[in-house]
Amino acid sequence: MAFPAQQIRRIKKQPALAPTPFRNWAGNQECLPRSRPTPTSTTAVADIVAAAAEKGTRVKAVGAGHSFTAAACTDGALLSLDGMDRVLSIDRDRKRVTVEAGIRLSALNKQLAAVGLAMPNLGDIAYQSIAGAIATATHGTGLLLGNLATAIVGMELVSGTGEVIWCDHETRPELLRVARVGVGALGLVTKVVIQCVDSFNLQAEETIEPLDDLLDNFPTLIRENDHFEFFWIPGSRRAQVKRNNRTKEPAQPPSTFAYVRDKWVGENLAFGSICRIGRRWPAAVPRAAKLLSVSSSERSFIDRSDKVFASPRHVKFYEMEYGIPVQALPEAFRRVREFTAKLAMPILFPIECRVSAADDIPLSTASGRDSAWIACHMYQGTSYDNYFNGVEQILMDYDGRPHWGKLHFRHHQSLKPAYPEWDKFGQTRAEIDPLGTFTNGYLDRVLGPVLR
Ligand SMILES: Cc1cc2nc3c(=O)[nH]c(=O)nc-3n(C[C@H](O)[C@H](O)[C@H](O)COP(=O)(O)OP(=O)(O)OC[C@H]3O[C@@H](n4cnc5c(N)ncnc54)[C@H](O)[C@@H]3O)c2cc1C
Repeated sequence: MAFPAQQIRRIKKQPALAPTPFRNWAGNQECLPRSRPTPTSTTAVADIVAAAAEKGTRVKAVGAGHSFTAAACTDGALLSLDGMDRVLSIDRDRKRVTVEAGIRLSALNKQLAAVGLAMPNLGDIAYQSIAGAIATATHGTGLLLGNLATAIVGMELVSGTGEVIWCDHETRPELLRVARVGVGALGLVTKVVIQCVDSFNLQAEETIEPLDDLLDNFPTLIRENDHFEFFWIPGSRRAQVKRNNRTKEPAQPPSTFAYVRDKWVGENLAFGSICRIGRRWPAAVPRAAKLLSVSSSERSFIDRSDKVFASPRHVKFYEMEYGIPVQALPEAFRRVREFTAKLAMPILFPIECRVSAADDIPLSTASGRDSAWIACHMYQGTSYDNYFNGVEQILMDYDGRPHWGKLHFRHHQSLKPAYPEWDKFGQTRAEIDPLGTFTNGYLDRVLGPVLR
């Protein structure tokens, strides 16, 4: 069939469909997937995985791309489950909610609040997808509260051969126990059931206190507060402290002016500008750090839990976070302080300290032990190797375990002894992904090859 000349020109002008590169939020990980499908059903996900398994190619899912590691990278098919973001059912009596795996925490929080429910705990942000957040054991702070994956009571996942599997406390409970923190290696999660709690308000108290007092009183502070954390800028004597405690009092949120001033201008615009200056003129960093620790404001307010936990984050950075046994925190933190004092490169971003309850998930960072977290950050575009490496060496002396979604330098050989149930995870991986369909460079490094 002959085309008119005009149409031929139009066809010629069509650009070839080039694969789109994937870049994570922090911009430090990039890959070029062969394809980037956006399935909208479990069947479509299963078909993609089955086809890849037959061809011997790789598949990964990406949530919000908020991991600092290459956890979601692949040269195979990179699936986005953004089109699978619905709340499917709500069991109000049991406080259980079934959702599609691509739902973002921010959207989930709003829909839970509308029916009087909430997540038991959350991290600092709510941009993540539920599947991405649980895969890396994303956590908040609270000695009696586990990471987000501990709230999962049922899961639907697609195995590495394209089989759709359901697990909950009655059906394949062992698989549920392990797969909640799958690091992207234990199937492609398509649905989860979340054990929620009644929605609650938090009384937030933000103060500036001497670091030594916080370290001396750490065991008491984490016991006496539902959610306790502090942020310390290396070189300063004081830290910003957040105590969030449950209250029956009605919400008294900060005014819009105060919110915009503190969260958008203070924590993002002004902080971002100072970071940019520090990146250009590192010599100005110590004075800027002092200024920041002095200018951090004290405040007190009451608001719905998710609004207190999560903040907007627009200043981009790189992060490493380690979990250590909770009782080791004061000593380990003092050693980190000594180490940062010797670093040639001054640090403007605070070190964050939080706690989490022990759980029974084999590859959860808090598996089998109450954990304290030490998180180091560097502004995007600045070198972090010496700093993160030095802190990692210190925290390894305390049997430290790195957050799966954050930067670290460990390999599977050194990680295996840190997890008593490492082999259980390996056996489950061999069963769920016998062909290694879900593996990638990051998993090869941190988990090693799939067991045969
Ligand atoms: C600004 C910022 C703040 C943060 N704050 C915290 C915090 O307070 N606490 C904390 O613990 N962490 C925090 N993190 C880390 C973040 O929570 C984790 O890295 C989380 O895994 C990111 O979720 P995501 O949806 O972006 O997943 P991605 O980063 O896109 O993916 C993470 C992993 O999950 C896998 N995955 C995604 N979807 C699926 C699926 N459907 N099935 C199977 N596997 C899947 C991916 O393949 C990958 O292996 C923060 C990160 C940033 C950038």
